[in-house]
Amino acid sequence: MAIEFSFNDEQKMLANTIYKWANTWLEPQMEELDESDTFPKEFFKELGKLGMIGICIPEQYEGAGLGYTDVCICTEQLARVSNALSMTWGAHLVLCADNIKRNASEELKQKYLPGLCNGTAMGCLGITEPNAGSDAMSMKTTAKLDGDSWVINGSKIFITNAPGGQTFLFYAKTAPELGPKGMSAFVMDIDPQPKGYTCEKIRKFGMRTSPTGLLSFDDMRIPKENLVGELNKGVAILTGGLTTERITLSGCALGSVRAALELSLKYSQERVQFGKPIAAQQAIQGKLADMYVAYETGRLLMYSASAYVDSLTEKRGGKGTMLDMKAAASLLYAGEVGVKACMDGVQIHGGYGYCLEYPIQRHYRDSKLWDIGAGTSEIRRMIIARELLSGTPFIGGLA
Ligand SMILES: Cc1cc2nc3c(=O)[nH]c(=O)nc-3n(C[C@H](O)[C@H](O)[C@H](O)COP(=O)(O)OP(=O)(O)OC[C@H]3O[C@@H](n4cnc5c(N)ncnc54)[C@H](O)[C@@H]3O)c2cc1C
Repeated sequence: MAIEFSFNDEQKMLANTIYKWANTWLEPQMEELDESDTFPKEFFKELGKLGMIGICIPEQYEGAGLGYTDVCICTEQLARVSNALSMTWGAHLVLCADNIKRNASEELKQKYLPGLCNGTAMGCLGITEPNAGSDAMSMKTTAKLDGDSWVINGSKIFITNAPGGQTFLFYAKTAPELGPKGMSAFVMDIDPQPKGYTCEKIRKFGMRTSPTGLLSFDDMRIPKENLVGELNKGVAILTGGLTTERITLSGCALGSVRAALELSLKYSQERVQFGKPIAAQQAIQGKLADMYVAYETGRLLMYSASAYVDSLTEKRGGKGTMLDMKAAASLLYAGEVGVKACMDGVQIHGGYGYCLEYPIQRHYRDSKLWDIGAGTSEIRRMIIARELLSGTPFIGGLA
């Protein structure tokens, strides 16, 4: 029996197209964009020409109607050039557009999805708050119905794509006394900025070029019909969304692992010390081998998780699901090997790896985010252990 990926011809073409585009259009700009922490304004317009912005959104809403495996292919290929912009695209598509696709009313889908798929709107998702990070269910933002509108008060932090974004999906407590069972999801326009809404850009040491915002809502009003899904049923939307988010964003971490390996293979064969390329030294060879093993293992976890979620009719996450465990495992592993591989890559580059001209240091700075974002490594381990200890089956295919 052979266990191997069998990507079809369309998927191979997709991977080649994305990487070629990223390498020709994006790569030459990355050093400057990273230094100035600038989001390239033409990013979604250019990506739109490849027809991939809304890749997992049905064609009736201007998407490409493909699956999460195809999203993973794209996040991975894009991250070989820019982990940060791969995250921005993933947040736009999987955190925002895909959650609208899965949960919103037909009217809201028709209103928001075409713009999110054709590059005229950038999407973002707000879960995290200044005092509710890993413990997301303790969020304090509230939504109170007043006539035909919801009145929103509170704040969200670390929101990818909020600065410069147009469509905002977020969670708020609609019945705070019910705890997690009193939470709902909403979608709204944030461009132009509505009354009572402010967004401040956050400065970061990595994932520069991907804009991150601190948002506050002060009696901000949104239409009553902008509730996504059922009232007080936000937890199911949130946990379901986090699974596909963790799987597809594993591609960001793994794209950087591949970049670290490719950059290090090249550099180590060119750099001569003690009369021979440093690649001839076993200490360097060991690092290259570790990067390769990390990359292959990470891909096995990610693509088996993406194939699994693609095969499910009801893609429910949360307690008691193998999907929650697989998604947490995929990003836990990809995130941790990502940091190690990129750190080894910097080491192989020596002092040059510490200089801003060499892209390996950018992958190193960016990769650290994947131990933190979408639920930290500690939280992912808690999820996996919770499911193991509660008897959730974890072996697919065999008894
Ligand atoms: C660049 C960036 C982009 C992001 N994008 C988004 C976004 O688009 N939307 C969004 O909603 N959020 C986003 N986030 C937020 C991210 O998901 C949170 O930062 C993450 O969930 C951790 O929350 P926290 O930062 O408040 O850390 P805390 O929850 O305060 O955790 C601090 C430390 O304590 C540990 N810890 C906490 N609880 C436990 C426990 N029970 N057991 C063991 N250890 C524990 C954590 O693992 C961590 O190491 C982003 C963050 C960053 C940095």
